[in-house]
Parts: sequence; C-alpha cells; structure tokens
Amino acid sequence: MFSYRHAFHAGNHADVLKHTVLLAVLRHMTQKETALNVFDTHAGAGLYRLDGDYAKTSAEAADGFLKLVATPPKEPYAPALKDYIDMVAGFNTTNHWSVYPGSPFIIQSLLSGRDKLKLWEMHPTDIKTLTANVAQLEAGRQVAILREDGFEGLKKFLPPPSRRALVLCDPSYEVKHDYARVAAMITDAMQRFATGTYAVWYPIIPRPEAHDLPKKLKTLANRSGKAWLHATLTVKSSKLTQDEQGEVVRPGLPASGMFLINPPHTLKAALKDALPQMVELLKQDSNATSTLESGG
Ligand code: SAM
Repeated sequence: MFSYRHAFHAGNHADVLKHTVLLAVLRHMTQKETALNVFDTHAGAGLYRLDGDYAKTSAEAADGFLKLVATPPKEPYAPALKDYIDMVAGFNTTNHWSVYPGSPFIIQSLLSGRDKLKLWEMHPTDIKTLTANVAQLEAGRQVAILREDGFEGLKKFLPPPSRRALVLCDPSYEVKHDYARVAAMITDAMQRFATGTYAVWYPIIPRPEAHDLPKKLKTLANRSGKAWLHATLTVKSSKLTQDEQGEVVRPGLPASGMFLINPPHTLKAALKDALPQMVELLKQDSNATSTLESGG
C-alpha cells in the first residue's frame, strides 16, 4: 500500500488527457457567479519537477507532456490543448520545462476568491510535500488539505451549500479494490448531490475491474437520468513483448480514460479536436487511438 508516487508519472500521457479535460471543465464551471466547490479526492503532491530524479528515472513525461510540446502538430494546436500547454507554461519561467502542476495547482489557479478547494492525500511523504507546496500559494482558507481517506471523506461535504461542485476522483488503483471504491463513492455522492459534476480517471489495462468501471459509471448516470461523457486515449498496444534476450517486456500504461457525469455542455466539442491531436503527437505504435462518447 502507498508505493505509488505520482512524481514518477507526472506529465505522462494519462496526465495530458486528465489535465486537459480538468482544465476544460473548470474553464466552464468557473464562469458562473455562484461559488464553486472543488473536491480532489486523491490529490498527490501538487507540484512536480520535470527535471528531477523521479521524472528522469521514469521518463514518462518525455513520452507525454514534453513530447506534446516538442513537435507541434501540422495544424495549430486545438484550443483545449493549447489552453493546457499555456497553463503549464504559466508555471515555468523560461522555455525550459522544469515544473509540472498536479491537479491541486491546476484547480487552484482557476479559482476566484469565493471558490473553495478540498484536497485529500494519505501518502506520508506526499502529504508533507503537498502541504509545503500549497503553503506557498498563500491561499488561506480557500484550500484545505485533509489527511484522510478521500473515498470516505467526500461524503461529509455533499451537498455543498452553493449547490455547485466538481469532484475529481483520481486514485492510484494500486489495489484492485480501488475500482469498486470509485464506483461506490460516485454512487453515494450522486444520491447526496445528483447535480454535481463528477470526473473519474481510470487506467485502461488488461484487468476486468478496469473495463467494468466505465460501464458501471455509465449505468449509474443513465439510471439517474444524467448526462455523461467518456473520453479515452490509447498511445500503444497493451500486449506483452520480448526483448532481445527473450525477457518479457511489460508495455507500461498503454491507455487511460476519463468518465464524467454532468459534464459541461461545452466539453465534447472541446475534446473532439483535442483528442485526435493527442493521438497524433503521443502515439507510440499503430494501436494509438482515441474515443469520445456521450449520452444522457
Ligand atoms: N490527482 C493528482 C494529479 O492529477 O496531479 C494525482 C493523484 S495520484 C494518481 C493518486 C494519489 O492518491 C497518490 O498520491 C496516493 O498517495 C493518493 N491516495 C491513495 N489512496 C488514497 C486514499 N484512499 N485517499 C486519498 N488519497 C489517496
């Protein structure tokens, strides 16, 4: 338990998908006058170094965000992708990409004074890093960090007083039980607050639980009569291969998805152009593809 550190994965292709979607959702939701509550149930450390040991060891950002900016697409970047790149650029002072913002910093950068952000994190080291990073923001009571289980902790805040909220659920899926816990948390949250916007990231890997999760969320949204949107990004095949010595090589994370309930009505159009460009720029083999479905 808690061997996962997002610092190894920050800026990878899954973050490109997740954070492009998150930003597009927030752009829409922060336009209204009423206070917005954002709940990030699995926050991570908040800010990451792209030139530090973790990122260099995994090199995942090199196949994700850094690849996205290294070779611009044939056409101009799609607006949602350009917005995401510009947002990351805002955390970097020169042309050198040294810092990558995690979801807490992306969210906080869009909030206005009336909005609130709650962050859950349980990793003993990442909670300290998150606390130190958030302290630099001097955001006062706008941002609260809770060292408790995000799956359980959300309950007590729903429904929020302003009746406007975004819940981002982005666990590490270190244990297969996480998939069932995501479904249970969103089911419970929908009973407490059916008009909230829910955004769930999940890995697309050869594991039944991973394939079942978006199906369960779709069934939940349809039964509740709520709109949903499902976006996926695949960068390579999930098949095992062999190296020259005949050793089995695991492909690493080949694909991931974002499932949203009550998404902004602007989101589908924003992703329609952005997803094919993610495929064009991040593809690692001929299996690279994206999907975009909505309903309700
Ligand atoms: N949302 C972050 C972002 O986009 O920058 C990345 C989060 S990372 C994928 C998942 C995080 O959840 C890890 O830092 C892990 O320590 C934390 N975590 C694992 N189980 C948790 C739980 N039950 N409640 C809260 N956080 C948890």
